Amino acid sequence: MSTLLAIGIDPEEERLLRETVRSVCSPYGHEYFERKARERGHPRELWSALGDAGLLGVAIPEEFGGGGTGISQLAIVTEEVAASGTPLMLLALSPAVCAATLTAFGTSDQRQEWLPTLASGEAVMAFAITEPDAGSNSHNIRTTARKVDGGWRISGSKTYISHVDNAQAILVVAKVEAADSATGREGLSLFIVDPQSEGLEASDISVEIVSPERQFTLFFDDVFTSEGNIVGEPGAGLEPLFAGLNPERIGSAALLNGLARYALDKASTYANERNVWGVPIGSHQALAHPLARAQVLLDASQALTEKAAALYDAGLDASSASNSAKFLASEAASSALDAAIQTHGGNGMATEYGLGTLLGLVRLFRIAPVSTEMVLNHIARKRLGLPKSY
Ligand SMILES: Cc1cc2nc3c(=O)[nH]c(=O)nc-3n(C[C@H](O)[C@H](O)[C@H](O)COP(=O)(O)OP(=O)(O)OC[C@H]3O[C@@H](n4cnc5c(N)ncnc54)[C@H](O)[C@@H]3O)c2cc1C
Repeated sequence: MSTLLAIGIDPEEERLLRETVRSVCSPYGHEYFERKARERGHPRELWSALGDAGLLGVAIPEEFGGGGTGISQLAIVTEEVAASGTPLMLLALSPAVCAATLTAFGTSDQRQEWLPTLASGEAVMAFAITEPDAGSNSHNIRTTARKVDGGWRISGSKTYISHVDNAQAILVVAKVEAADSATGREGLSLFIVDPQSEGLEASDISVEIVSPERQFTLFFDDVFTSEGNIVGEPGAGLEPLFAGLNPERIGSAALLNGLARYALDKASTYANERNVWGVPIGSHQALAHPLARAQVLLDASQALTEKAAALYDAGLDASSASNSAKFLASEAASSALDAAIQTHGGNGMATEYGLGTLLGLVRLFRIAPVSTEMVLNHIARKRLGLPKSY
């Protein structure tokens, strides 16, 4: 029995949820995903279908139009969507990092304003922490928020921010300027910012990833956001920030688990059908073993993802498990995709077979949302008690 089931999700509930996601996704599939990516368009139809079926809001409280369950259920949704050939990274952002942060730390007005539309899919929220000069070192964030009458003025820049073109709001991490802050405390805070604000410019970054989701560098030149748009206390943003980062890692792990399943499904079908020496190619161990090895990694990764989600939902410390899950899932998905491409021979690189198209996306997750090196730094320090190396 998986850890998740042992901790709480009813197996019948899980089966029904998986079945529902599969049926919502079935009219779309990888061809739809790839076409949207080439058109550089938002996968609006799929996103709305997921919202209409209540799947984007599974982790959002019922009083705000959600399903009132947890990140465990959202991880199941994310895995199944990716396993259907439509790996939407947005699932790890808008309904995960953003909705989880607002659920845990938003004011009642912020929850009322955003959670129902995030649940229905009518609104999308982007998340902006990465800066050109700070990179993995969030302590070096230079974007500042200055207190002014009726709100805050934000200045600085962010980079590789996904989905700004389709977002109704961006959750921005900025440093509160101590001299002007209401409390005199300096520190990171989260702000809800309208992407259409005066002084905010977005510039598209071209990346080698086949995905409908586009990335942007953002320039904030004294951008105003009102008093009601700060999430949590001024300068006390670390707690809200970390609350949201674990669901983002769990969501990324779930997406990678789904991608690994998608690749292994395709590979095993092909390996049973393709015959070049009088037997199916799957009977050659040189092909079968890498697939079997990837399956073992996937089993472990799914169990760890379930554990991380269950810890988060139980209000327990989920940081090591979430980091480890994301690490293992990126190993599992990389191995699965590589073995699946090898199994397909030349067809592995053909757009039509829907595997080569995923190389950039799967590779990305060794870099984002947190790099493999930073995950291992965390584990070395928190689990092994080794000195901080950075
Ligand atoms: C397609 C895409 C989408 C993204 N979407 C978003 C988004 O929506 N919102 C957002 O805020 N960000 C987003 N990012 C940014 C992403 O989170 C960062 O790229 C990532 O955190 C790494 O930061 P960096 O690129 O600045 O690398 P750097 O910090 O410059 O690191 C470069 C390399 O050095 C290694 N390194 C750095 N420090 C250490 C250390 N102490 N020990 C060992 N190795 C180290 C890193 O692991 C990495 O391999 C996205 C990135 C991409 C490519």
